[in-house]
Amino acid sequence: MDRKEIAKGMLDGAIFYHGHRCPAMPLGLRAGLYALDLLGVERCRAHELHLVCESGPAHATMCFVDGAMYATGCTYGKGAAHRVNIGKNAIILVEMSSNRAVRVAVKPEFFEQAMQSEFVRLRSQGIPPQDIAPEIVNPLIDRVMSLDDGEMFNASDIFEMTIKRPVGTFDLKRCDGCGEAVFGNCVQEQNGRLICLECAGGVDKGLVK
Ligand SMILES: [Zn+2]
Ligand SMILES: [Zn+2]
Repeated sequence: MDRKEIAKGMLDGAIFYHGHRCPAMPLGLRAGLYALDLLGVERCRAHELHLVCESGPAHATMCFVDGAMYATGCTYGKGAAHRVNIGKNAIILVEMSSNRAVRVAVKPEFFEQAMQSEFVRLRSQGIPPQDIAPEIVNPLIDRVMSLDDGEMFNASDIFEMTIKRPVGTFDLKRCDGCGEAVFGNCVQEQNGRLICLECAGGVDKGLVK
């Protein structure tokens, strides 16, 4: 099956996961499928692949990342994706066993044109995406789903990249401060007691980095 057909088959599930209809998420879906194909690998089930997301902490079109994660199976929750906060709609997909990587970036011309859309104008006025009329958003999604990869993306050659990812621990401890269960790579010793980072102080759970 060709990539456009695969993307179409995934779209409804991706929209459900993402929460609303918008053009940036399907763009990420297409980018992720393109990267899988360029590397010649299957969608990630556990930790075979890693996704480097180059988007920033807060800007329009961040939805791109949800599409790329959905397509590649490289999700943040299982530690197969991370964001580097450099404000670009680009991804690097890495095969962990071989360190082979490919980078797919949205073409600047395509990106600039997309930012001129009525959808983006309404979003910039603070209108939530789910409140924007289907007549405005659906043609944008249809366009992203039907264009060729080369019309939307620049792709790198295959290159070598090492992902320095911590090994998952199964070592569960009890914090002597709060009594909560906490994994061993997130505790420290203080005056002979084993305490979690929160009890050690300085954790701002409300801060988005
Ligand atoms: Zn979105
Ligand atoms: Zn604690």
